[in-house]
Amino acid sequence: MSTTNDTLANARIAVLGYGSQGRAHALNLKDSGLDVVVGVRKGGPSWNRAYTDGFAVAEPAEAVRGADLVAVLTPDMVQPAVYKEAIEPNIKPGAALLFAHGFNVHFKQIEPRKDIDVILVAPKGPGALVRSEYERGRGVPCIWAVHQDASGQAEAKTKAYADGIGGGRAMIIKTDFKEETETDLFGEQAVLCGGASSLVQAGFETLIEAGYQPEIAYYEVFHELKLIVDLFYEGGIAKMLEFISETAQYGDYVSGPRVIDASVKARMKDVLKDIQDGTFARNWTAEYQAGLPNYKKYKQADLDHPIEAVGAKLRARMTWLHPTTAAPAESLK
Ligand code: NAD
Ligand code: MG
Ligand code: MG
Ligand code: MG
Ligand code: MG
Repeated sequence: MSTTNDTLANARIAVLGYGSQGRAHALNLKDSGLDVVVGVRKGGPSWNRAYTDGFAVAEPAEAVRGADLVAVLTPDMVQPAVYKEAIEPNIKPGAALLFAHGFNVHFKQIEPRKDIDVILVAPKGPGALVRSEYERGRGVPCIWAVHQDASGQAEAKTKAYADGIGGGRAMIIKTDFKEETETDLFGEQAVLCGGASSLVQAGFETLIEAGYQPEIAYYEVFHELKLIVDLFYEGGIAKMLEFISETAQYGDYVSGPRVIDASVKARMKDVLKDIQDGTFARNWTAEYQAGLPNYKKYKQADLDHPIEAVGAKLRARMTWLHPTTAAPAESLK
């Protein structure tokens, strides 16, 4: 594959973590002709997977020693410990420390040594897509940023890494750690995860409380959401409008803004403010350190919501969702 710059041609890259992003990055970098070692905990499942995929595998500290670029692709909340224990004592002066999300650097959970580059490359897609697009000779767009340039080469290294994972074949967009971190958190909280799941639950509850059957409600406010989101994804709101009925369009125009009104947007701004001023990061870090008491409670409430039970029953009968297994007979009732 062609890299637009050869800054990393003779570099050793340590990829720490071999999950969604780690595996995709490591495989793509290797197939781009770069020298990759995977750093994971010995005996863990990732160790065997990376080894079976043909990588040199080492404990994180060992992988960092001698590396010219260290990609930190462990879960965000374990990164501060990985930095303290494996990276800070071992990373070479002038080497680059790369993240795929700016949270820990932006919120100062990690304060990187001053003699290293601190950079970011975040593909705008899950690891599986980053890998499968690369294998097709294409790539997933990436955003990139430089937080600290100790070597004078930080930008060139960042772009070479983005090229190495295939991003350069699609598009790379410059950002900074603050923008990436704050917009990522806002998106998942207000719209994608938090907003969408709460919207669906509220719609489901509204129909159930009005006496409608849960099975019917499930299809109308949850299942069919995928069809709409696929249209957004492929062609924007214009494509959705093209494919839905005139009745659905008129209902969208008059009722959408009644549900998502100015008060919702005002609360979105509150959510954004908590992200920007560090309140969310402080609360989340404290929650994590306390052993996740509220997180576990909130999660259980989601799992116990009545939409989950009816959804499990209905999905068991939708064979295309699980093409390799027959639906369990008990779900026939
Ligand atoms: P993941 O949970 O899929 O994988 C994490 C990996 O880290 C696993 O291999 C796990 O075994 C390993 N690990 C866990 N604890 C470790 C430790 N103490 N020491 C060493 N290794 C350890 O994570 P992910 O979703 O790939 O996320 C990695 C980074 O990429 C995060 O910063 C995330 O915000 C970012 N990111 C993820 C996506 C995505 O689609 N998943 C997209 C963009 C950015
Ligand atoms: Mg994101
Ligand atoms: Mg995120
Ligand atoms: Mg309908
Ligand atoms: Mg609308």
